[in-house]
Amino acid sequence: MEIIRSIEAFKSFRTGWPSSNTADLCFVPTMGALHSGHLSLVEEARKFSQYVVVSIFVNPTQFGQGEDYEEYPRQMKKDIDQLKNLGVGAVFIPCDNQMYPLGYRTNVLVEKWERRLCGHSRPNHFRGVTTVVLKLFNIVRPTVAFFGQKDAQQAILINRMTEDLNLDVEIFVCPIIREKDGLAISSRNRYLSAQERQAAVVLFRTLNWAIQQVDRGERKVKVLVNEMKKKIKAEPLAHLDYVSIVDPNDLKPILRLNRTALLALAVFIGKTRLIDNTILLPEKSSSVSKESVL
Ligand code: AMP
Repeated sequence: MEIIRSIEAFKSFRTGWPSSNTADLCFVPTMGALHSGHLSLVEEARKFSQYVVVSIFVNPTQFGQGEDYEEYPRQMKKDIDQLKNLGVGAVFIPCDNQMYPLGYRTNVLVEKWERRLCGHSRPNHFRGVTTVVLKLFNIVRPTVAFFGQKDAQQAILINRMTEDLNLDVEIFVCPIIREKDGLAISSRNRYLSAQERQAAVVLFRTLNWAIQQVDRGERKVKVLVNEMKKKIKAEPLAHLDYVSIVDPNDLKPILRLNRTALLALAVFIGKTRLIDNTILLPEKSSSVSKESVL
């Protein structure tokens, strides 16, 4: 496995790899602190092609003021060891001043959609995400890229950007990997105290409750959202940021569940902001989707 720490070195590696230009190059961008959620994307990528690149870059521009950029977990050696066991061809680990050298001024954003859902409380977050992903796509030049449904809005925005800017990369969205009790695995879960860790299951419990209600025939979004808010309020360590049911095609809120919808929420557990989501399929008997529709 090649470990490449500069853009220049990566570009030169890329000219000879893969040697056949009909082979797919699969790309998994990450911020490191790898866990089984990330590794599931790498495994999917490996099933698709023997040529897999993983990037590790804690992107400063997607963190807002007062957010956890400084504390964000960094464990490079452990990450590299984990990737070695998965048949990854190259790990790309650029540094901040290569990605954003002095004088850097360009950003790409998906207008309006970047302000919906999480974008409301993290106003510049998605601009940072789409910009870094486009930069990484330009450096790595993948034919296929893998993202997690865990960050559903991110996946939707990247799909939009890819289509709008005619990028020659296919986007795959992989299912959310969860702990045994349902908590979505996240690098930020390690910030939780033991008590907070228990409280954090409220996100999954609330999503599941909504899925059951939809299965029983509830179609009124207001009824579902109000009840979900109450459930989160009832958990003393939780503080709701938002819970929304939206059209996954444009992230606009919907009033009635008469088609596939994205139920997304963000909840502070203590100081840690956690996100989770599920796809609601009111036309099917069971609303929980195994296959991602994003
Ligand atoms: P991050 O390092 O947090 O930027 O995540 C890198 C990629 O891993 C993103 O596409 C995430 O959506 C994905 N990811 C993170 N957690 C999970 C999870 N629990 N299940 C599936 N994918 C995940």
